Order: sequence, then C-alpha cells, then structure tokens
Amino acid sequence: MSFQNPVFIPGPTNMPESIRKACDMPTIDHRSPLFGQILHPARANVQKVLKSANAEVFIFPSTGTGGWETAITNTLSAGDTVLAARNGMFSHRWIDMCQRHGLDVQIVETPWGHGLPANRYAEALAADKGHKIKAVLATHNETATGVKSDIAAVRAALDAADHPALLFVDGVSSIGSMDFRFDTWGVDIAVTGSQKGFMLPAGLAILGFSAKAMAATKTGRLPRTFFDVNDMAKGYDNSAFPYTPPVGLMNGLLLASDMLLREGLDNVFARHTRIASGIRAAVHAWGLELCAATPDLYSDTVSAIRTPAGFNATEIVNHAASAYGVAFGTGLGEVAGKVFRIGHLGSMTDVMALSGIATAEMCMVDLGLDIKLGSGVAAAQDHYRRTTGQALKDAA
Ligand SMILES: *Cc1c(COP(=O)(O)O)cnc(C)c1O
Repeated sequence: MSFQNPVFIPGPTNMPESIRKACDMPTIDHRSPLFGQILHPARANVQKVLKSANAEVFIFPSTGTGGWETAITNTLSAGDTVLAARNGMFSHRWIDMCQRHGLDVQIVETPWGHGLPANRYAEALAADKGHKIKAVLATHNETATGVKSDIAAVRAALDAADHPALLFVDGVSSIGSMDFRFDTWGVDIAVTGSQKGFMLPAGLAILGFSAKAMAATKTGRLPRTFFDVNDMAKGYDNSAFPYTPPVGLMNGLLLASDMLLREGLDNVFARHTRIASGIRAAVHAWGLELCAATPDLYSDTVSAIRTPAGFNATEIVNHAASAYGVAFGTGLGEVAGKVFRIGHLGSMTDVMALSGIATAEMCMVDLGLDIKLGSGVAAAQDHYRRTTGQALKDAA
C-alpha cells in the first residue's frame, strides 16, 4: 500500500495535516484547568454540529460501537423491548448488541439497499398500545449499502402513534457530513465516532443525549461502569473525565469541529453532495448500479456499487490495494462479493474523488469488466466542471 494516496474507505477517513498535528500533543495534566480549555469548547462545538441547542454531549474513549453501548446501557433494562429495522451490516450489529444485553428486539426485516421503512415503524408503534417498546433504533446512513434513511419520518411515526419510546439514531457515517438535525427530528440519543465525518483517528465515541434520555438514565437498570454518562457528567463538572482522557484526540476534535463550523455545516453538506453526485455520475457511465434502490436513498458519504452477476466485487478491492496502493471498501454481510464501496466523506475534494474514480476504473478494466477507460472520469469531470460554474463560463 502507499501512504501517499488518499483512502476511499468509509472510515477511517483521510486526515487533514492540521488535524493530525492537533492530535500530537505533549503530555498535560488532564486534571488541570488546561484540559477544560479543550473539553468544554469541543463539547460546545459538537452540540452545534448535531444542530442542537440543549443536547448533553458525551465523549468517551471508544468507537461508534461503544457509542451504541452507551446509548442502550444507560437508558434501558434487561427485558425491555426495542424496535429496530435491519437493512444492512451496521443496523444488524446494533440489533445483535441489544440482544446480547438481554433486550427484546422487535426486528423489522428490510431488504438490504432499502431505507428504514417508516410506515412499518408506524404500524408497530400504533399496535403497541401498552407502550412495551422503550426505544426505537434508527441507522441514519447504512454504511454497508450506501443508504440514507429519513429520520424525520421515523419521528413522525412516533408522534402519530403518540408513543413515548426514545429515538436512538446511529449517525456514525452521517454526522458532520450529511444534514443531521438532533432537535428538529426529536432525537433522544445520537451516536457517532471520531474517524468518519470528524476526520480523526478512531478512538472516540461521541454522543448527544436529550433531556428525556437523561431522565431515562435514572430508570434504566442495565449494568454500566465505563460508559456511565452520569459519572462522565460529574467528571465534566470538574473539567475532567472519570478516568484518563485521550487528550490528543480531544484536541483534534476541538480543531475538527472548529473546521466544520468555519466551513459552515451547509457548505460541508453541499460539498459532500457535489462530490457524491460526481461519483454517481461515474457509476452510471460505467453502466453499473448502486446498491441503494432509489435515488432518494443515495448516501452522500459512501457509494456501494453492484458489479455484474458472477463477478466477485472484492477482487476490485484486493487489486486496487495490490496494484495501485489504493483502499476501497469491500461488501459486508449479505452483499459481500456483490458490491464494492467508495467512501467519499470527511476530508475529500472533487480532485481527490477523481483519483478514486480513475483507480476503480483501471481495476475494473484490469479484471476484464466491460468498461471503457476514462468513461467514469469524464462523467465526473463534467459534473464537477458544471457545478463549479466552469462549464457555464465556457458557454458564455
Ligand atoms: C463505522 C460505523 C459504525 C461502527 O463504528 P466503529 O467506530 O467502527 O465502532 C457504526 N455504525 C455505522 C453506520 C458506521 O458507519
């Protein structure tokens, strides 16, 4: 592999030099006020990235998976029912975690490549007259299939049934890259990690809790120690963690969140949409299909691309690594061997995306797929020129 090429995996994402440097800190006393100068503004920034006025932001030394565990163990009790759709590997893993914690998961099986079926959530919630369902799980962006779901519709399903269940949203591959609205959507717990939209190394679970979720921590009985949000909140009151914080990563988070807010969240989202649209133009020029069933489901952070039947898509990923030193994502679970994935989130530009498209194209031609070298690149170039306004200038 090359250390020079950008990566096109949907996390960990490419790191800007400035963020890498911010993570490289001399040792400080993590119980001194110096740490508070990192901790407090970083939490305030994350709250803004979540588009929330009041969410309690918690940051643990962990990953997105630890964020899932933080959400369920702080608010629920063994035997509680949770409602969750399974439409890909990540929603599957969160369901599996709930089951291992003794929760009773009411699973809405959904074809991979489809979004969360808000209508089926609505039916299940309306049928639950006794309010056995304590939490609804929703994966905003299924990284395995490149499918974005409509969280506002899940909230509307809860409201239509006048159901008091908590709404937990996995935003690991969307927060900081795609529009996420904690307050507007009535999210109770949002979960993400450091190594996707925040462009950091892996190592932090990042969460927002609503007042209702905080209240549920008083009744939830699942065991938690390391991930106890009330212990963490007490630590924050003293500008500390209940244990040793990863100071360098926290300093990196402060800079990364500053960078996102300085670029402007709407500009960040528009950049991701523009880059993703170029990738999708290339996919269509190749004559291939996305795993996402319809255009409204297309993710702006990762594209899962179906290869022709009988062809093992993982070969593209292996060949890209060995021949060109470039990393793409493999298919996971049900779509293993059927799709390869291009991650296009975080620190990404149109020019970087073009190099990924060009590499994928070389690999597919090398492996004998009927694709014309340059076809995807040209389609993406055309999209990127038009959307910078260059094509308009040419025409004038
Ligand atoms: C990456 C990812 C996770 C898992 O996060 P880790 O940081 O690897 O633990 C969970 N959900 C989604 C949607 C993801 O993309």
